[in-house]
Formats: sequence, structure tokens, C-alpha cells
Amino acid sequence: MYWFRRMMMGRYGTDQLSIALLILYMVLSLILQFFRVPFLSLLALIPLAICFYRIFSRNINRRYAENARFLKWWYPVKTRMQKSYSRFQDRQTHRYFKCPHCSSTLRVPRGRGKICITCPVCRTEFIKKT
Ligand SMILES: [Zn+2]
Repeated sequence: MYWFRRMMMGRYGTDQLSIALLILYMVLSLILQFFRVPFLSLLALIPLAICFYRIFSRNINRRYAENARFLKWWYPVKTRMQKSYSRFQDRQTHRYFKCPHCSSTLRVPRGRGKICITCPVCRTEFIKKT
């Protein structure tokens, strides 16, 4: 492994964007398999090529900036996906309401009948059936 470490010296290596490009390559190559058009599957190689170019790149500042731009877009998407997943997981034990005043999301246990909900952010009270 010494030769590999020596080769990677001064090069950028992997980051979140490279992994995302790798996943994109795998998804694209899976999807493009179903279309029986010649050379269309080569389209999937584009993200893979970009991924390898980024890993072996010596322009570290530029790659770092690209990754930062990607993460700025990706984190809100990831957070939204995680939120909807946890909401789906406890759909039988909890209900979610939006505060009518500040529109923040409130999580309330299910099956308590009509209850008065107090928003922890703005202290607005409203009655909902759980
Ligand atoms: Zn509120």
C-alpha cells in the first residue's frame, strides 16, 4: 500500500461529493440498462469520470469549494428526508401539527382526545384532536 499512499500524496482524495457522484453513477448505470440503446450506458460513466478526476486532482482548494457548494445544497435535502422518515416511523404513536402563529412543527402523542397544545416557541395555545 506504500505505492498507493505515495501516489495519493498532494491529491484531493474522496469527499461527500465524490461519493454522491459514485452513487449517481451506480443509479444511472442501473436505470440505463433497461433502455436497449447502444452507447446510452456510456452516459453513466460521466459522473464516474468526474468522481475519479476529483479524487486524483491536485487542485485541492477548488475541489474543497466544489464540495462546500454541494454540501450547502445537500444538507437541507438530507435533513428534510430524515425528518419525513422519522415522521413516517412514529406515525402510529404521534401526530404532527403546525403552530398557527409561528408555523413551527409540533409533535404530539396520538390518542389523547381533544387537547390544548401550547407551542414551545411562541407560547400560542390551540386545541386539536389527537
Ligand atoms: Zn408557535
